Amino acid sequence: MKNQFAVECHSKIASDCLQNGKYFDSEEEAQDWVENECWIFSGDGWICLKCHDAFMGSLTSHRHKQGNGLDGVDSGVEADDGLDNELETGIDIVR
Ligand SMILES: [Zn+2]
Repeated sequence: MKNQFAVECHSKIASDCLQNGKYFDSEEEAQDWVENECWIFSGDGWICLKCHDAFMGSLTSHRHKQGNGLDGVDSGVEADDGLDNELETGIDIVR
């Protein structure tokens, strides 16, 4: 992996979040790229279009949950489903 500049998505709430923009030799170029891609700049950082969509979706349909993907799993490992089932059955036994 080269040490290059890319703008990282600040939000990462979408399951299909782009994570970060294209890599460039300079920070300015990386920032130009996300601007061209119409990423949204919040006060804290850039938000990719996928996350912006997810954010707007959660605003307009607040009864629809985006799943359990808000735990901030940076490793990208998605083994939560099986664990959730075990947890639920476990709770059922206890009650
Ligand atoms: Zn994102």
